[in-house]
Amino acid sequence: MADYDFDLFVIGAGSGGVRASRVAAAYGAKVAVAEEHRIGGTCVIRGCVPKKMLVYGSHFAEDLHDAARYGWTLGETSFDWKVLRDNVNADVDRIEGLYTNTLDNNKVEIFKERATITGANEVTLASGRKVTAKFILIATGAWPVVPKVPGAEFGITSNEVFYIDDLPKRVVIAGAGYIANEFAGIFHALGSKVTVVNRSDQILRGYDEQIRDRLFQISTQKGIEFVFNAAFEKVEKQADDSLSIHLEGHDPIGADLLLYAIGRSPKIEGLGLDHAAVDIDEKGAIIVDEDNRTNVPSIYAVGDVTNRVQLTPVAIREGQAFADSVFGNKPHRVDYANIPSAVFSNPPMAGVGLTEKQAREQFGAPKIFTSDFRPMRNVLAGKAERSLYKLVVHPDTDVVLGIHMISPDAPEILQAAAIAVKAGLTKAQFDDTVALHPSMAEELVLMK
Ligand code: NDP
Repeated sequence: MADYDFDLFVIGAGSGGVRASRVAAAYGAKVAVAEEHRIGGTCVIRGCVPKKMLVYGSHFAEDLHDAARYGWTLGETSFDWKVLRDNVNADVDRIEGLYTNTLDNNKVEIFKERATITGANEVTLASGRKVTAKFILIATGAWPVVPKVPGAEFGITSNEVFYIDDLPKRVVIAGAGYIANEFAGIFHALGSKVTVVNRSDQILRGYDEQIRDRLFQISTQKGIEFVFNAAFEKVEKQADDSLSIHLEGHDPIGADLLLYAIGRSPKIEGLGLDHAAVDIDEKGAIIVDEDNRTNVPSIYAVGDVTNRVQLTPVAIREGQAFADSVFGNKPHRVDYANIPSAVFSNPPMAGVGLTEKQAREQFGAPKIFTSDFRPMRNVLAGKAERSLYKLVVHPDTDVVLGIHMISPDAPEILQAAAIAVKAGLTKAQFDDTVALHPSMAEELVLMK
């Protein structure tokens, strides 16, 4: 240790980096973390957390509408984007403070500047200071992809969307994955005209087909427009500051805001990987082994920069496993099987385990159970919107291989149900569980 300034130098104070720093420091390691933006990373500052708050904010639109059917008389209602935006960002500031306190309390030294790798055990800070460490952990996350077309700079990404001045009248969202469907729901509910544009002919590739078809159907019925098989050609700014978005084979679309949600790439630019000859793959992701170690023995990487599973809880687990293994003498590896995930669209989707298609490929003919129902709350509100739950069951062992759902509260319900899938429970064991009535979740144990 005497040879190095720190036992561990972490680059990036996001979900993975903060967890690794805190845990390593708690084991007694001397730890530093460099962060050029804000403590908390994408999830806390401009991702999951503020996005979920906007989702909550947008749900009031339908709730206020439904309230009349539940006997409430409301005066004239109105929505003020700036109030929601500023309250959300104030709470993000609060959470950033909590993250900073956690690092301070664990005596992790914070450098609020960019760090570049300049050797297998050395980083150089933006200030010019060189720092050595026995281990370096890269946890720089990912960065939104922007299409390379003329006028692309007129669009924004999820990095900027939380700070826009006004609610746009017309929004075009490029991409049809997680971020696109979540922001389509938010902007539509808040009153914008939303058009989702995707290069392929589907939304949410990889999700269970029936479930995403239901989201597509509900979104379309609400008035969200979709344009498929549409590659970007160019974006032009009009005299009135609005945008004209040109797509191959389609008429131009007018918009007041263009949001790119076409994926996120590992953030390795300017990181100095060449200086230590750290290997990356063809997508620019840092290649690591099952212990999060790169080809350079002193350099590790966790989270989105490794492009394994781009989800916060996974990055946190990788950071924890790294710190436990390297500093806590408790070696273990992340289990990537049956990771639950959700899309906070309106209504939300959630899933765990194999989709029907994946199970078919692996086991031939899985047993499929579905429940297609109108939630009680929607019935009384006079809304046609239906929920869909699906169980994918092993044809021989009766083990539940996957659960996929689209429904109000689907993420809340799925998190609990994911325990059963992770534990390898059978459909018979689901059926043995008495229903909790009346609830939406009871459908999980009532499927015939
Ligand atoms: P996604 O990977 O979810 O979706 C990307 C979309 O953009 C797809 O519809 C894809 O089309 C399209 N696309 C991909 N590359 C290009 C390209 N070069 N040009 C044009 N279109 C393209 O990305 P997001 O940006 O929505 O989100 C990034 C990641 O962040 C997600 O994968 C997820 O891991 C994470 N995330 C998780 C959330 C959650 O857990 N709720 C919320 C938000 C983000 P197609 O596939 O049809 O070819």
